[in-house]
This record gives sequence, structure tokens and C-alpha cells, in this order.
Amino acid sequence: MRQVALVTGASRGIGSAIAAQLAREGYSVCINYHQNRQAAQALADRLQSQGYSAMTAAADVAVRAEVEAMVRSVEQTLGPVTLLVNNAGISSQEQFQDLSDAAWERYFAVNVTGARNAILAVLPHMLSEKSGCIVNLSSIWGLRGASCEVAYACTKAALIGLTRSLAAELAPSGIRVNAVAPGCIETDMLRTLGEETCRTLAEETPLGRLGTVEDVAQAVAFLASPKASFITGQILTADGGFTL
Ligand code: NAP
Repeated sequence: MRQVALVTGASRGIGSAIAAQLAREGYSVCINYHQNRQAAQALADRLQSQGYSAMTAAADVAVRAEVEAMVRSVEQTLGPVTLLVNNAGISSQEQFQDLSDAAWERYFAVNVTGARNAILAVLPHMLSEKSGCIVNLSSIWGLRGASCEVAYACTKAALIGLTRSLAAELAPSGIRVNAVAPGCIETDMLRTLGEETCRTLAEETPLGRLGTVEDVAQAVAFLASPKASFITGQILTADGGFTL
């Protein structure tokens, strides 16, 4: 069967590296984006010029109808989704009491409901095939908590609950569900913390550096691969030893 991967939030950062890695591993990939159409298209063009199969699709993962329409367009263009990577996410830093109701809700809408929307859209085909794979992007902050990122950490902890619970529910249907919990990875998201904080985080990482987007992409590709065929419900930490 043709392997088709949908990677949400793949216009830049970790998602773009995951899409590129999966393309190299033989998947036809859909690069989902929200605002950065140009970056998503540039990645698709680059992959196609290297002989890989890739398309782009716009959708705000928080909006169920947009996600449903995106998945239908992937099915028509590449075929049914066999691997879903829930990577799209938002973060920012503020004290708990300073976060507005709307911002709190937006965190959950994108980071948690976004994953639910995408899973619901791809699940009917996976259930009918009795196979499929889902990888969610959690975070070490969802494992251990994070000052001034309470809402973000809550959503990333919720993804761990989603991963473990859904893995148990879907295992009898032959569908594996796992998560990667990245540590401090050099992307736009991390750079919002400022240069000095990034330097400190690199120093606090036992392996002595920030992670690269490729480090995370390799972990996702492993969980998606047949090498991980007996692995489900697991949270693979890729953090250079930060949480040890
Ligand atoms: P990033 O550089 O900020 O990129 C975020 C991506 O998510 C972009 O492609 C963006 O698309 C997309 N996105 C945001 N809101 C969206 C929405 N509503 N619908 C669809 N796509 C949306 O983030 P990153 O650092 O690569 O992080 C990727 C994932 O890894 C996130 O889930 C994050 O929580 C997790 N993570 C990151 C780190 C880290 O240190 N960087 C650590 C742990 C976990 P557009 O640009 O097109 O809007």
C-alpha cells in the first residue's frame, strides 16, 4: 500500500524537517501550513525537484471543517493517510494570571483539539484498513511542567494522555499511537526565548547543545517505521539528556 504522511504545521521548524525526512523514507507527504504558504510551497517544490512526492494543504488545525477538507484533498491527490504526525503547535511565555481566556482557549484549540481534529479525519480509513500510525509532538515541558508556560505545558501533558489512551483503544485495530517529547530544539519557537536563554538551555543540556530539527525528525521517523512495529503508547524523549 502507498505510504502517505500528513504532517501538520510543516511549513517551518520541526514539522518541515519531519516532512523532508519522511519523503526521503519513501512517503508521499502532505505539508500542512496555517499562515506560511510560501515556505510550505518552497519545501514541496524542493522535495519534488529531488524526485519525491509532496503536496501542500492549508488548514488551521483548530477548525474541524478545514482539517476535514484538507484530509479529503490529500486522499484525492496522494491517497489515504497512513501516517499522521500531529506537529502543529503554538507557545508563548507569560505568567499564569496574565493569560487571557481567549489565549488559554486558543492553546487548547490548536495544540490539543487540533490533534483530535486530524485524528478524527484520518481514522475512518485507518480503522477500515486495520493499520495506521499516529505520532504526536508533545514536549519535555508536558512531562515536567514549565514556569511561565503553564497553558503550553498543560496542552503538551494532555497530548501524553491522548497518546497513551488512544494507543490502548486503537491497538486492537492495528493502529499505533506514540509521541515524541522534544527538549530544547533550535526553531523559531525556541528563539522567542532570546539568545541568552537559548545559550543557557544549551549549557543545561547534558549533551551540551540545543537539539536540531533533524534530531526530532529522526525520532518521529523511527516511531513511524516498521522498526517500531511493537511500540505503541510510548513517549520518546529527544532532549539530549535535559530531563535526566
Ligand atoms: P514553530 O517553529 O513555531 O513552527 C510551528 C508550526 O506550526 C508552523 O509550521 C506553523 O504554521 C504551525 N502552526 C501553528 N499554528 C497552527 C495552526 N493553527 N494550524 C496549522 N498549523 C499551525 O514550532 P516548532 O518549534 O517547530 O515546534 C513544532 C512542534 O514541536 C510543536 O508542537 C511544539 O510544541 C513542539 N516542540 C517544540 C520544541 C522546541 O524546542 N522547538 C520543544 C518541544 C516541543 P505556519 O507558520 O504556516 O502558520
